[in-house]
Amino acid sequence: MARHFIDGDWVAGSGGATLPVVEPATGRAFGEIADGTGEDVDRAVRAARHAYDEGAWGRTTATERGRMLTRLADLVSSNAEDLASIEARDTGKPMSVARADVTALARYFEFYGGAADKLHGETIPYLAGYLVQVLREPHGVTGHILPWNYPAQMFGRTLAPSLAVGNATVLKPAEDACASALRLAELVMEAGFPAGAVNVVTGRGASAGSALVSHPGLDFVSFTGSPEVGQTIQKLAADNYIGCTLELGGKSPHLVFADADFDAAIPVVCKAIIQNSGQTCSAGSRVLVERSVYDAFMERLVEAFSRTRVGAPDMDLDCGPIITARQRARVQSFIDRAGADGVPLLAEGTIDPGVDAGGFYVRPSLFGPAPRANVIAREEVFGPVLVAMPFEDEADAMTLANGTDYGLVAAIWTRDGARQMRVGRRLRAGQVFVNTYGAGAGIELPFGGNGKSGHGREKGFAALHDFSRTKTMVLNHGV
Ligand code: NAP
Ligand code: MG
Repeated sequence: MARHFIDGDWVAGSGGATLPVVEPATGRAFGEIADGTGEDVDRAVRAARHAYDEGAWGRTTATERGRMLTRLADLVSSNAEDLASIEARDTGKPMSVARADVTALARYFEFYGGAADKLHGETIPYLAGYLVQVLREPHGVTGHILPWNYPAQMFGRTLAPSLAVGNATVLKPAEDACASALRLAELVMEAGFPAGAVNVVTGRGASAGSALVSHPGLDFVSFTGSPEVGQTIQKLAADNYIGCTLELGGKSPHLVFADADFDAAIPVVCKAIIQNSGQTCSAGSRVLVERSVYDAFMERLVEAFSRTRVGAPDMDLDCGPIITARQRARVQSFIDRAGADGVPLLAEGTIDPGVDAGGFYVRPSLFGPAPRANVIAREEVFGPVLVAMPFEDEADAMTLANGTDYGLVAAIWTRDGARQMRVGRRLRAGQVFVNTYGAGAGIELPFGGNGKSGHGREKGFAALHDFSRTKTMVLNHGV
């Protein structure tokens, strides 16, 4: 449906131009979306502004917002299979992954529905005769620029906390995966949100996206995507005197020490990179192994990784195609370059022979040992590519783990409790897992990066803080 969702209504784009919707599993177009313009964005921000400043949304109580979010959670659950099918076709992910994404989406609305009336301010002891109250207030109108890798989950991850706090929102989904956001806009209406609380403008980043961040009516922006575009967003936000959170991906390591439980680690290490074809900001894309067990561990990992199977969404194998031809070419260029640089290719997955020849498939690849300075060891591939490297001791493991520009997630595999704490506290990461890994897991768990992985925190109660601001009220009531 080539329409935007603005002010509670489906509206045609001002320019009338559209963009094709392409199915990653076949490479064929199966629909179109509106190619949003600055004018469309202006209309959406004005609708949000009105809803917040004068409309019904700005007058809702926290309890009412919580109930609307909870209703939305229920609607997502009762439409789960439909939403999962839309998501799988639009992004190419296996059906069981799409189903898990929709379950997580419902959880976002459930969690923040329950949290809405539990975000409280505080009082501060001050001078005699004074009462100081610190109120938690919404920013006003928040902008949300989404990537294509987990479009349904991201809809909930970024909108649910912002709505819980009371912001009116304008969302610009990725041009390559808009379908679930448009379906969810219908459910937002059904859940009873007033017009203008949620607006969705489809289109390209360079036009609709930048118009949103630069709009004078915007108060805050939440962005998830590439480090390069994240920098652009921060510059545009600075020009607009607004704050932003940036979630920009990573090169997240597993640290496997000699005493690790290999049986527990191997399947988790495989899944952490294969899940969603490696198109996960928190994918575990490096496996760093203590040299004394490197060969033994890698033998097991190679065997498991080689069993990875790639197919269309309805085949429901370990992973699906890459989102677009352009991203496929990017992933393949990393694989080709590692090969040309002489990095040993240790294992590959298989693409099911039944897939459509026009689909954007790539073979999962495990490389190692990679020279530490090689691009495959340092840069985010955003595909099913895992790189292995040995380390000498704990100090060397830290140097290697913290040795990229990123800092999003890390995992420590060891039975030594003191080492778990020591290493965990020194890792440059927003989340550290010990003897487990959860790429994207845990709605309740604060999440976010350092350095090139971005800043700001999403998920958990942390997101409620980032989507709100304090106001300090100082009352002189006399002694
Ligand atoms: P991207 O270009 O950063 O896109 C993310 C979002 O930003 C999309 O909605 C995009 O719109 C929008 N955008 C692009 N340029 C913009 C601008 N000048 N102003 C405002 N918004 C803008 O990411 P991508 O091209 O889809 O993927 C490229 C790489 O980004 C991947 O290979 C991966 O490394 C990384 N990535 C990371 C994540 C993550 O979860 N951290 C997710 C996706 C991608 P369009 O859809 O029109 O581009
Ligand atoms: Mg892009």
